[in-house]
Amino acid sequence: MQHFPIFVNTAGARVVLSGGGEAALAKLRLLMKTEAALDVYAPAPSAEIVTWAAEGRLTLHRRALRAGDVTGAVLFYAADEDATEDARTAGIAAVEGAMVNVVDNLADSAFITPAIVDRDPVTVAIGTEGAAPVLARAIKADLEARLPVTLGPLARIGKAFRRMAEALPHGRPRRDFWSDYYFDAGPRAFAGDEEATNDALDRLLARHLAREDAPGHVDFVGSGPGDPELLTLRARRALDRADVVIHDRLVTGEILELARREALLIDAGKEGFGASMTQEEINRLIVAHARGGAHVVRLKGGDPTVFGRLDEEMDAVEAAGLSFAIVPGITAASAALAGIGQSFTRRGRNTAARILTGHDMKGFADHEWKTLSRPGEVAAIYMGKKAARFIQGRLLMHGAAPETPVTIVENISRPDQRTIGTTLGQLEPDLSNARLSGPALMLYGLAPRAAAALNSLQQEVS
Ligand code: SAH
Repeated sequence: MQHFPIFVNTAGARVVLSGGGEAALAKLRLLMKTEAALDVYAPAPSAEIVTWAAEGRLTLHRRALRAGDVTGAVLFYAADEDATEDARTAGIAAVEGAMVNVVDNLADSAFITPAIVDRDPVTVAIGTEGAAPVLARAIKADLEARLPVTLGPLARIGKAFRRMAEALPHGRPRRDFWSDYYFDAGPRAFAGDEEATNDALDRLLARHLAREDAPGHVDFVGSGPGDPELLTLRARRALDRADVVIHDRLVTGEILELARREALLIDAGKEGFGASMTQEEINRLIVAHARGGAHVVRLKGGDPTVFGRLDEEMDAVEAAGLSFAIVPGITAASAALAGIGQSFTRRGRNTAARILTGHDMKGFADHEWKTLSRPGEVAAIYMGKKAARFIQGRLLMHGAAPETPVTIVENISRPDQRTIGTTLGQLEPDLSNARLSGPALMLYGLAPRAAAALNSLQQEVS
């Protein structure tokens, strides 16, 4: 991020602009929305600028800018649309201590003006560091359409009510109140009527003040396999409201980005067989935060009910007398199947499909190898990388055909997703040769759809 977005207080501040043509007009239209005192230097100002000066919206000086004119100004715009003149005025402004913007000249500007969506006092600034003005405009148009015009008035009314809301305890009770206002009671009451909104705020506050101290709560949330698009709406809402997010290693950075900005993020990730935080420590952590009144989101990769050690954590939360809920997620198998274009069950092929783990607490996990060895059997094998040779050996020993397709999908739903189509007979060495570094799932009995069509099971599909 070369350009850091900030919001500059313009109340009582002096802003100076040099120029009187089109570029100056465009900037002035924006600047006149602020509370700054505007000084414009232009020997030949356009008619609009003259009118605005007559209306008292800016002060016009009908001459070129000279040394001393920018003293005490916070911002300066060089908008003469002439490289030599812009360089001259920008030089004066820089010496006199103002932040300088040279219109349409990124390299010589100390700051740039973003594309703005104006729902005053809510302002959205969009910047692309000059890389893609088209993109900035598209995002602006999208937000303009999405943010209701009532947002401005609602925020203004809300702002005036902040003092009153301080009667509520700091933290969650106050946040809950504002969340109710902006997303529920406010929009319903508003409908263009400011007085009705104020009454609704009074009633809402009374209701929240009467609430008992809410104890904490734990949401066990499935994050899906990695792509934020595969989060449920409920998971997003839980992340939006979380005070504390305790996540495991499978949860991607893009998903953590969606957590409320003030939320405390705790990585309880475990590496392979070695634990970086014991289950007891994680249980204690969840309970301690929830007891303190926090809304805890325990974020787990995929679905929390699949190989997620969920029961230990639910037991701990329940034993502490705290409430909890489970928010399901898309498990790795679902996303992997979508990725290779195959169904988990198919008429005429398999009437049951299994979810297996390659290893359990005791080591490599044992399964009904005999049943699994029959033609048409399908299984999604989690945590199978290290156990692959063991699984291969057991299945072949129980009579499974070496040509049985096996598909390995690594980093499911992430930009670096990789699919390796192989057979049971070739699973090792193919798996080792693939040198996987991310999480991987094995789909036993299934070949990638494209590879199947090509009648070849030895394909790498990227
Ligand atoms: N609760 C998770 C599974 C946790 S067990 C779920 O429902 O998906 C961890 C195993 O899940 C990994 O060893 C791997 O086999 C599989 N897995 C989870 N996320 C994955 C991903 N994005 N890509 C590939 N495999 C994944």
